[in-house]
Amino acid sequence: MKNSWKYLSLLLIILFASCATREYIPRIDGLKIDAKTHEAIGQDKRIKILVMHYTVADYPSSIQILTKKQVSAHYLVGDDALENKVYQLVREDKRAWHAGVSYWQGRTNLNDSSIGIEIVNKGFIEKDGERIFFPFDGNQMQKVAKLAQSIVERYKIPPTAVVAHADIAPGRKQDPGPLFPWEILHKKYNVGAWYDIPTVLEFLPEFYKADYDSVEFIEKVQNDFHRYGYKIEQTGEWDEQTKDVILTFQYHFRQKKCDGILDAETYAILQALNKKYNR
Ligand SMILES: [Zn+2]
Repeated sequence: MKNSWKYLSLLLIILFASCATREYIPRIDGLKIDAKTHEAIGQDKRIKILVMHYTVADYPSSIQILTKKQVSAHYLVGDDALENKVYQLVREDKRAWHAGVSYWQGRTNLNDSSIGIEIVNKGFIEKDGERIFFPFDGNQMQKVAKLAQSIVERYKIPPTAVVAHADIAPGRKQDPGPLFPWEILHKKYNVGAWYDIPTVLEFLPEFYKADYDSVEFIEKVQNDFHRYGYKIEQTGEWDEQTKDVILTFQYHFRQKKCDGILDAETYAILQALNKKYNR
């Protein structure tokens, strides 16, 4: 009796395993698809980037918008502190419509190659020309962290490819804004990039030696942002696109002062990140 149970469970495991793989092999009448004999070594996962968003809506409206309209995301993390679940709105192997016109590290149209997580949060209000962002709930962030950690591990997403929606669309998008806990995600969950302080200190003097408004220095800075991943033209001017990228970068990596102006700390953090992640 014991043995027959063992065989039954083994049979079930085999059945489930074959169902899982068969999903990707088409059944075509009169044609055999042999997916066993030759498997190419030249292949990798389609998912390369993880994008974080906030919804700018309350929980019920967020569900409505992300399921019934032309925008969507793979996951929605609510702000109900008692809730222990997240919603999957789009399967990971399908495209969700969350990124829009976007660029990161040479890739465009990032809906094709990313997973999007939407986090319920009201975004920001503008007061006296300043943006005041709404904080994220602690329980909500724990759910985001666990989910992100699993995605990063399963798809082997490198640290610099865990990004804000703002990072891939500077100027057009701000989310998830300067209160998003990128540093904790990196340090506690091994999700995303963060700099090392000794390296930042190493680069600070370089900033003070530079000729701030020279074409040469501005072009170097623009090139450094591009090296890290941002879409930016090398114009040699402190123009709008450059300010947008600096502000976006500060939202992510220098959250205590976000003004779109390249100061010593912002500069040194950018250098430290490029040095650490070798891009
Ligand atoms: Zn977004």
